[in-house]
Amino acid sequence: MAKGDTVFVCQNCGWTTAKWVGQCYECHTWNAMVEELPIETIANKKSAKAQKIEDFTVTFSQVETLSASKSRLSTNIDEFDRVLGGEDSNFGMVLGSVMLIGGEPGIGKSTLLTQMVVGMLQPSKTGSSKSEHKFMYVCGEENPAQVALRIERIAKQFHENVTTVKDNLIFVTTADVDAITAAMQKLKPRCVVVDSIQTVTTTDLSGAAGSVGQVRECAERLTTTAKALHIPLFLVGHVTKEGVISGPKVLEHIVDSVLELSGDRTGDLRILRAIKNRFGATDEVGVFRMREYGFESVSNPSELFLEYADTQVPGSITACVMEGTRPLLVEIQALVVESQLAMPRRVGRGINLPRIQVLSAVLQKHCYLPLGSTDIFASVAGGFEVKEPSIDLGLAVAMASSLNNKPIKEKTVFIGEIGLLGEIRSVNLLDRRIKEAKRLGFTNIISKKTHKSVRQVLSDLQLLKSKTT
Ligand SMILES: [Zn+2]
Repeated sequence: MAKGDTVFVCQNCGWTTAKWVGQCYECHTWNAMVEELPIETIANKKSAKAQKIEDFTVTFSQVETLSASKSRLSTNIDEFDRVLGGEDSNFGMVLGSVMLIGGEPGIGKSTLLTQMVVGMLQPSKTGSSKSEHKFMYVCGEENPAQVALRIERIAKQFHENVTTVKDNLIFVTTADVDAITAAMQKLKPRCVVVDSIQTVTTTDLSGAAGSVGQVRECAERLTTTAKALHIPLFLVGHVTKEGVISGPKVLEHIVDSVLELSGDRTGDLRILRAIKNRFGATDEVGVFRMREYGFESVSNPSELFLEYADTQVPGSITACVMEGTRPLLVEIQALVVESQLAMPRRVGRGINLPRIQVLSAVLQKHCYLPLGSTDIFASVAGGFEVKEPSIDLGLAVAMASSLNNKPIKEKTVFIGEIGLLGEIRSVNLLDRRIKEAKRLGFTNIISKKTHKSVRQVLSDLQLLKSKTT
């Protein structure tokens, strides 16, 4: 098909034009025009392929066979499997599923996937014959030599066999999506990694690699092929400065899972989170430590998050949050100082800012703490981000502790949401959290079970000093 046979479609109202324009003539939305193949072309393609009735129908008994096998492919990385989902001892990727893995450049997406490839290609682990576990790695970002170098380094560090990797890994160096899908059809690999989707293009569209139209069209073609061949497919997607995966919304509904790798780039902690997962829970996280040679699964993250926790410093407390099915103990730090500004500052890192504002208002009103003219800085240690309200109590105590310059006794953990009246509310899975805290040696667990209000807690901790003196 010749270039120029495409149309530009407004993503807001559906108005089409042959030439790109910055603003839609119909609904006047800016930057909403995306290049697409004209509908007639798609219709022609579809009818050309058509179609024996067996191609698109399936009997009930065939469906059962599919679900009965239920087999998932393990990545051989525990924390990765946990995020992909599964049950019992059957964790990992579902055959034919498409996973988009996003994250800032340099965060380690390629390293994680290469490590997965190295692990999965070990014959001892798969236990299947050689020809069955060919892997395809589409290198758009790097050349095969660079990937090969990384593979050798990782294999060496994990004492894995490089020879089996060499025999079974196929590099694809083209950026043309139709060539890639053709290779998939011919070679029928066990798993495909496309690094990255922004580099793949089709000549059917005139847009540059990485444009919304290109990314969407290519992802759709790769997905169709992966599903037809039951091959799990990983698409690497870069995240823009605004923190969204480029061409994000358009990819999100095409793929089965959206995984995001995040972490402090300066630190060694990495967190893999499922934002969308058709085959597992979306709130599950995998925790890794980035080593020189690759990722190390952290099966007991609480210990990691508390590693630097020094409970003898004012403003530091321990809270317990749920990440998916797993309770995690994290250190919350608060710093409260007299403000030099007319508008005191409220700054949160890993903590949602409105919560800091609400809690400081609650402490002011119900516990008479003079927080109106203080700057408040609060963070979760270790670069972790907490979204659930169960840290309210801990955060409030950390602020009171910093304000009063009085440390909290060690082996104490705080669990609870705080209402606008200062009451402590129950949180889900409280017993599970308490159990985890006890397991890690915490003896003083403060929650709705022990106290009714934040005022009562502060009073017991002698943090209401400001009122009594
Ligand atoms: Zn429009």
